[in-house]
Amino acid sequence: MRVAVVGAGPAGVRAVEALVAAGLTPVWIDEAPDGGGRIYQRPPPGLLRDPGKLYGFEAGPATALHAALDALKPRTDWRPETLVWHLRPGAQRLSTLHRGRQAELAYDAAILCTGAMDRVIPIPGWTWPGVTTLGAAQIALKTQGCGIGRRVVFLGTGPLLWLVAYQYAKAGAQVAAVLDTTPFATKAMAAPGLLRGGTTFAKGLYYTAWLRARGVRIAEGITPLAIEGTAHGVTGVAWRDSAGRTHHVDCDATGMGWGLKPEAQLADLAAVPFRFDAQQHNWVPQRDAAGRTPVPGIYLAGDGAGIGGAEVAEIAGARAALALLEDSGHRVDAAQVTRLDARLARQARFRTALERAFPFPAALARAMADDTILCRCEGLRAGELRAAARAEAATGPAPEVNRAKAFTRVGMGRCQGRICGAAAAEILAAELGRDVAEVGRLRGQPPVKPIPIAPAAEAA
Ligand SMILES: Cc1cc2nc3c(=O)[nH]c(=O)nc-3n(C[C@H](O)[C@H](O)[C@H](O)COP(=O)(O)OP(=O)(O)OC[C@H]3O[C@@H](n4cnc5c(N)ncnc54)[C@H](O)[C@@H]3O)c2cc1C
Repeated sequence: MRVAVVGAGPAGVRAVEALVAAGLTPVWIDEAPDGGGRIYQRPPPGLLRDPGKLYGFEAGPATALHAALDALKPRTDWRPETLVWHLRPGAQRLSTLHRGRQAELAYDAAILCTGAMDRVIPIPGWTWPGVTTLGAAQIALKTQGCGIGRRVVFLGTGPLLWLVAYQYAKAGAQVAAVLDTTPFATKAMAAPGLLRGGTTFAKGLYYTAWLRARGVRIAEGITPLAIEGTAHGVTGVAWRDSAGRTHHVDCDATGMGWGLKPEAQLADLAAVPFRFDAQQHNWVPQRDAAGRTPVPGIYLAGDGAGIGGAEVAEIAGARAALALLEDSGHRVDAAQVTRLDARLARQARFRTALERAFPFPAALARAMADDTILCRCEGLRAGELRAAARAEAATGPAPEVNRAKAFTRVGMGRCQGRICGAAAAEILAAELGRDVAEVGRLRGQPPVKPIPIAPAAEAA
C-alpha cells in the first residue's frame, strides 16, 4: 500500500512513527530542508546552537522529536526540500517539486500534516520594509540567529505575540513595546479554563511576567492606528488605547499577527469539505476526531486540520495513522487509541479557553480604512473591494469571496489569499451586512505556493 505523509512537523513525525511501527514504508515529504515543523524548526547545517537557547522551555520535546525524526528517515522514503504543489484526488496523485524538478507520486492513502501560518490583519503601513509576521520574526531568530530589527514592536494577539517578544528580549534585542489588541479583562475571564493547560498556561504567565519585570512597554486592549515608515523602513507604531488616547513608539521593525490559520490548501484540492469554526474564527477542513475526512484515503492531523498546538499535533498525528491503519485492515492497539482520544479531548477543552482568551478581532479587519492596502500582491485597497462589492450587489446576488476575487483580483497574486483572505472576507461580509461564514472562503488553487512555470506546464 502506497502511503504518503506530507509534513514533518510534530504531527507528521508521530504519524510516520506509527506507520513505520506497523511495518509500512511511507513516502515522507517536506518542503523544508529538514523536519521539525514550525515550532521545532532546525537551523541550517553548520549553524550549531544549543537546544536550550534555541527552543527554551521546549528544548526537551524538541530534542525528542528530532531524535524520532532522524531515526525514522532511513526507514521511509524521505524527501526533504520537496513541495507538494498539487493534489489530484481522482487520479490519487501528488505533484511535487524538488530543486526545480517536477514529479508525480501515486498514493493509496495520504496523511496531510501541513501545519499553519500567521493570520494577518492589514493595517496602514504594514507593507513597509521591516514589517514581518510574528512567525517570520521567530523563524529568523530560531533558524538564523538574527532578529528582524534592533528595536522591535510586537503587535497583534495570541500566545505567539508574548512568546516571540520574550524570545527577542531574552536574545538581547530591544523590545520597544508589546501591543495586544485583546483587553486584559478578556484574558482574565478565560483564566479558569486556561488552568487546564497546566504547564502551557504557566509558561504563558511566565513570559508576560518576565517582560513586565524588565520594564518592557506593554499595552492591552489597543487599536493599532498605523505602522509608520518610509520606503527605507519602519520608523514607529501608533495606536489608540481603550480610553481613546493615541500613543506612539519608535522602532525599526514590527512583528505582527493575530493567531494562526490552517495551511489547508492540499485538503481543499483533495475535495475535503470545509466548515467555518466559529470558535477559532477559521475555515477548517472536515474530519472526525481521528483525522478521517469524508474523502476516502485522505487523513488530516495537526494544525493543518484546525489549530491545536504542537502537543495536540503529536497526538493527532499518531491518531490519524492508527485510523489509516485500521481502515486498511491492520490490527491496531485499542488501548492506545483510547489513550490518544482521551488526550485529544482534554486538549480540546484547553483550546476552547485559549480561543476565548485571544479572540480574533474581526471588528479591526472590518473597520479597515478605505486607503489601506488589503491585498499586497495585487496592490488592492480595502475601499476598492468595498466599492466593487456594492456595485456587484446592486446588479445581482450578493457576491461571495471567490466572486470578489474574480472582479477585484483580491487574493489572486502570489500568496493566493493566504495572507489577505481572512481580512478580505471580513470586509466583504461587513459591506454586505452578512455573517463572515456566509461570504465563504477563498478556494485553494494549484500551485499551492509559487513555482516556476516550466514544471507546472510539464505536469499539465
Ligand atoms: C511560524 C510559526 C511559528 C510557531 N512557533 C511556535 C512556538 O514557538 N511555540 C509553539 O508552541 N507553537 C508555535 N507555533 C505553532 C506550532 O508550530 C504548531 O502548533 C505545531 O508546529 C503544529 O505542528 P504540525 O505538525 O501540525 O505543523 P508544522 O509544525 O507547521 O509542520 C508542517 C510541516 O509541513 C510542511 N509543509 C506544509 N505544506 C507543505 C507542502 N505543500 N509540501 C511539503 N511540505 C509542506 C512544512 O514545511 C512543515 O515542516 C508556530 C507556528 C508558526 C506558523
